[in-house]
Amino acid sequence: MRFSAFFFDGASRAFHHRPTFSKLVVILAASGGGLVAYADSKSDHAIESSRVAPKKKVVVLGTGWAGTTFLKNLDSSLYDVQVVSPRNYFTFTPLLPSITCGTVEPRSIVEPIRRIIKKKGGEIKFWEAECFKIDPTSKKIHCRSDIGTNLDGNGEFLLDYDYLVIAIGARANTFNTPGVVEHCHFLKEVEDAQKIRRSVMDCFERASLPNLDAEERKRILHFVIVGGGPSGIEFAAELHDFVTEDLFKLYPMVQDLVKISVIEAGEHILTMFDKRITKFAEEKFQRDGIEVKTGLRVVEVADKNITMTHKSTEKMSVPYGMVVWSTGIGTRPVIMDFMKQIGQVNRRVLATDEWLRVHECNGVYALGDCATISQRKVMEDISAIFKVADKDNSGTLTVKEIQDVLDDICIRYPQVELYLKSKQMSDIVDLIMDSKGDVEKESVELDIEEFKRALANVDSQVKNLPATAQVAAQQGNYLAKCFNKMKDCEESPEGPLRMRESGRHHFRPFRYKHFGQFAPLGGEQTAAQLPGDWISIGHSTQWLWYSVYAS
Ligand code: FAD
Ligand code: MG
Repeated sequence: MRFSAFFFDGASRAFHHRPTFSKLVVILAASGGGLVAYADSKSDHAIESSRVAPKKKVVVLGTGWAGTTFLKNLDSSLYDVQVVSPRNYFTFTPLLPSITCGTVEPRSIVEPIRRIIKKKGGEIKFWEAECFKIDPTSKKIHCRSDIGTNLDGNGEFLLDYDYLVIAIGARANTFNTPGVVEHCHFLKEVEDAQKIRRSVMDCFERASLPNLDAEERKRILHFVIVGGGPSGIEFAAELHDFVTEDLFKLYPMVQDLVKISVIEAGEHILTMFDKRITKFAEEKFQRDGIEVKTGLRVVEVADKNITMTHKSTEKMSVPYGMVVWSTGIGTRPVIMDFMKQIGQVNRRVLATDEWLRVHECNGVYALGDCATISQRKVMEDISAIFKVADKDNSGTLTVKEIQDVLDDICIRYPQVELYLKSKQMSDIVDLIMDSKGDVEKESVELDIEEFKRALANVDSQVKNLPATAQVAAQQGNYLAKCFNKMKDCEESPEGPLRMRESGRHHFRPFRYKHFGQFAPLGGEQTAAQLPGDWISIGHSTQWLWYSVYAS
């Protein structure tokens, strides 16, 4: 049975809908009285507006998971908001693989940005364009539109910002492998999924033409997926279902020639999941006849052959009909250029602090797949933490002194709590007692060296967040809430104590809450890994998956 979703009913009507410009209303006042009245109201207005400070300009780049969630949750009456994105709709990416095989229609997984804006009262301006340069010194961004640029000008324009929210996601990573851009499909956008669908059908039609030998038909019907991550595996599973359930009925003469292969450089597929899920997926694919080749690195993709290497063997070439490249994400050129400008060289993604602020860049925030939070280490701040905790300036810390700043430490450095959890300890005091040995809690006094020793390993728990919709959406929501309470929090900060300076941070830092992950494996089988390492695999999990996304 095929699943058809209509999450954003009717969205297609506005899919690529053009801006509607506000009407210019011209009022002609014919009488002198009318002119006086106009002058009066103007001066009143002038006095009024001189009292109200102009709204700060917020420019949002991107209408994906992070950008759209930010917009939906932002109180747009507080700011002058402009959105720039080459796509005038939001895409529900978890269902993209289902578009490739027609299980779900494109219109069901997109939501027009103009509709979102309208729901918010229409104060937000949207420009269908891409940002190609960020200039943090003059607080301007350079944009380019590719619609109608042949009619007037080159489609370039500049925007000023007070706050810039960068949420432009990532691009497919080819690792500069020759031939990938020319010959492979990617699966990032709705258009990609539609192209894949057409290409699968083309392969079946081509393989059915007369005057082809069996070898050529076999080549054309060899579907290769490079990358054994969640998107690649989900696509392989969808393709297998599509081919066996639908296409075999339509093309019975070529059904014995079809082959689906997954090529993965690591030792297993779905390595970000629990081992039980990986094993289940590998076994299911084997039963389904999907060939999983691990430990292979693709080094070149030519017109009809894909070449790979294995640790133990020489290069080998395999003929193919269609390749989908799904090996993870890379940095967009505009971000690379921006990183160079702000001194973030030799980095793969833009680094922010725990409040999603780009380091050393006033008023610039970055979230979602284009950025990563570089969590401050406890050991970098250990002397400052000690100083803040040592309220009586005695040069030593008592348990009470530590407990007084414990909440602030745990909010500022979430790795402390993770470390305690990993050691099955409930409190930092347990950690200190552990390092001090056999002493009474009340008599504990730690000097800086002992304090350092007690916390020496907590930073091992610092982890990068995955590039997922879950992370991007939670960051968008978090940042919007910070923007909504910017004024209040400037007056009464709600964040933890600053360790290196005085006072408190305005906001609590961003905290990610993991709700689990799903891997649809085809044949109505889905694997789920929920918090607390709870694993569920099978048909019921498939329904759980549907209901999570339906909600
Ligand atoms: P995106 O959602 O990619 O949005 C980026 C936005 O920026 C787009 O609107 C784009 O048009 C715009 N943009 C690009 N360049 C520019 C520019 N120069 N100027 C202005 N705007 C620009 N995650 C999950 O959690 N669960 C899943 O099941 C899941 N399944 C996935 C399946 C597939 C096939 C794919 C590709 C991804 C999947 N993901 C999933 C990952 C998830 O989609 C991403 O992590 C998420 O989209 C990141 O959100 P983002 O807002 O950072 O970027
Ligand atoms: Mg003291």
